[in-house]
Amino acid sequence: MHIDAYQLHRHGWNRKLLNTYWFLVMLQLPFEFLYSLTAQRDVSSILGHLCNSVLILILLEITNKCYTKLLDYQIISGGAILSFTIIYFNYEVKMAVLYLLLPIFVSIFYHQLSKIVYSVALTLLSLSILFAVRLSILSGYTFADLLTILPVLSIFSIIISGIMKRGVEILDNLQATTELKQELLIKNIIMDKLSKTDALTDLYNHITFHEYLDELITQNASGHFCFHIALLDIDNFKKVNDTYGHRAGDAVLKNVSSTLKNRVGPNDFVARYGGEEFAIIFTEKNTDEVFDLLERIRWHISQVKHEELNENSVTISIGLCEYMPGTSKELLFAGADQSLYIAKKTGKNKTVIHTAPLKEAN
Ligand code: GH3
Ligand code: MG
Ligand code: MG
Repeated sequence: MHIDAYQLHRHGWNRKLLNTYWFLVMLQLPFEFLYSLTAQRDVSSILGHLCNSVLILILLEITNKCYTKLLDYQIISGGAILSFTIIYFNYEVKMAVLYLLLPIFVSIFYHQLSKIVYSVALTLLSLSILFAVRLSILSGYTFADLLTILPVLSIFSIIISGIMKRGVEILDNLQATTELKQELLIKNIIMDKLSKTDALTDLYNHITFHEYLDELITQNASGHFCFHIALLDIDNFKKVNDTYGHRAGDAVLKNVSSTLKNRVGPNDFVARYGGEEFAIIFTEKNTDEVFDLLERIRWHISQVKHEELNENSVTISIGLCEYMPGTSKELLFAGADQSLYIAKKTGKNKTVIHTAPLKEAN
C-alpha cells in the first residue's frame, strides 16, 4: 500500500487553510486602521475593503458547502483573489505585494507539483493585472521593479518544489520503514507459530504442550480449579502405514487432528504429543463432561471412512486423568498413560478414566 501524501488529511487541511484566510482578513483590519491614521487615508474605506474580502470568503464557504469538501484548486484560487484584493486596495503600501506569495505558500500544503505550478501561474497573472491597472500608474512601480519580483518568485517556487520533493522522499522512506517493520512482525508471528505447532497437523507440538501444562500447574498452585489431561493414541497405526502407505497414514493423522481441534471446547488445548499420539488439556469441565466429550470424539473418529484407506476407518484409545492440586506433572502423566495402557490392553477403541489416587513413587 502506498501512502498518498496528497490525500493525507486533505479535507482537514482545506478547512484549516480557509480558517487562515479568515484570520488574515481580520488581521488586515487593525493594520489598515493604523495605516489610515498615519497616511491620512479615509477610515471608512476600511469597511469597504473588509466587505470585499469577507464576500470572497463567503463565496469560498458556499462552494465548500456545495461540494461538501472544498476543492484544492478553489482554495488556491481563493487565496490568489484574496491577495489580489488586498494589494489592489492597498496599492500605496509598497510591501503589500508580498501578499502575492500567499497562493504559493498555500500550494505547499498539497505536496503536488501541478498545484505549485498553478499557484505560480495565478501569481504571475495577478501581478500582471495589478501592474497594468494599479501598481505602475498609482504606486510608481516600474517595469524594472517587476523584473526583480520575477526572479524572487522563481527562486521561491524552486525552493518550494524542493521542500515538496523532500517531504515526499521522507514520506516514502517512512513508508518503506513501516512496511519493513510490518514484514518483520509478520515473519516473527509466523516463526513463533512454526515453533509452537506441528507442521503436519497444525496442532500444538510436544514442547508447547508441556509449557502450557507447566504454566497451568504453576497458576493452579493454590488449587482453585480442576483440569484433566487425556492421552489419545490411534490403534494399530503401524498396520495402517504398512497396508496403505505412509502418505495415507499422514492423511489419517491430519483428519483425526482436525476432528480433535473442531470438537474440543475453546478453552481446551490439543497437541500432537508424538507420532500417532495426541494430548488434550481440558479446563472448566468435570470428569463426567470430559468423559462424555471424549467418548463422542472417539465414536465419531471410528465412524469416519477415509478415502486414503479404501473407505476404512481408524479407532483411537484414550486414557484420562484428573489433575489433583499438589500432584506433580509426572504423576498426572503417569495416571493418563496407565489408563491408556489399560485401554489398549483391554481391547482398544475405548476411554479409560484413571481412578486410583495419584501417588508419588518412593
Ligand atoms: P497400538 O494400537 O498399540 O498403538 O499400535 P500402533 O501400531 O498404533 O503403535 P506403534 O507404536 O507400534 O506404531 C506407531 C506407528 O506410527 C509407527 C510409525 O511408523 C507411525 N508413525 C509415527 N509418526 C508418523 C507420521 O508422522 N506419519 C505416519 N504416516 N506414520 C507415523
Ligand atoms: Mg503410540
Ligand atoms: Mg498407536
